[in-house]
Amino acid sequence: MRYNRVLIKLSGGALAGDRSWGFDPNAINHIVNEVMSLHALEVEVGIVVGGGNIFRGELGERWGIERAEADNIGMVATVINCMMLRGAFTSRGAADVRVMTAIPINTVAEPYIRLRAIRHLEHKCIVLLAAGTGNPYVTTDYPSVQRALELRAPVLLSAKNGTDGIYTGDPRKDSSVQRYRTIGYDSVIQKNLRVMDQAAVLLARDHDLPIHVFDFDAAGAMQRICRGEDVGSLIAHGEDALA
Ligand code: UDP
Repeated sequence: MRYNRVLIKLSGGALAGDRSWGFDPNAINHIVNEVMSLHALEVEVGIVVGGGNIFRGELGERWGIERAEADNIGMVATVINCMMLRGAFTSRGAADVRVMTAIPINTVAEPYIRLRAIRHLEHKCIVLLAAGTGNPYVTTDYPSVQRALELRAPVLLSAKNGTDGIYTGDPRKDSSVQRYRTIGYDSVIQKNLRVMDQAAVLLARDHDLPIHVFDFDAAGAMQRICRGEDVGSLIAHGEDALA
């Protein structure tokens, strides 16, 4: 196995499936299948869950809500998603599932405590990490890198819906674009590729955390990555290489 512990970044959109908002039972079922198949391989799994299927802080302006408050709403949205997933995992008999949140909501979820989260992983619990950093003005991209580092995961799996990696251009507009097999952190930043927030890429670069960007809709993608196959695009130190 290439990886025995992973941190997955799952956007809220992954819970919504083809819908633009809310939840789709088939999409949630797919998430449960994918994660439980990793768990069956004895890969330890932490997941930073986004909230975009409910609310994102950047939408606040449209509602006349100031940014810090809008971001709080977004963070609570990630808690709702984690609870939804905990319910779905539990109903499917997943071993032990913990929701740990960076903003205290003690009656519904545990507080995020780094060493306790590591213990949960060591005990083979699926750990759902809610509320990002617990602070406004960032999305869940930055905390996904931060939590991977904190929890000593050797990799971040950045799950995407609707794309299977990082391309030299926009594949919807130009059929001649090519997918990167590997791409350097600095290339992602210099080319301003909007694969994830730049602050997150910089943090990963400075601490040498590889990031696999892959199509979450493709069944078995995470298993294949953990087994060592080339899937999607890998952001890491080194030369850019096309697929
Ligand atoms: N958020 C925040 N601080 C964090 C993480 C998230 O304020 O550390 C808020 C922010 O408003 C963000 C929202 O929560 O837009 C939902 O997260 P995100 O946009 O990353 O969701 P995704 O696009 O991954 O579904």
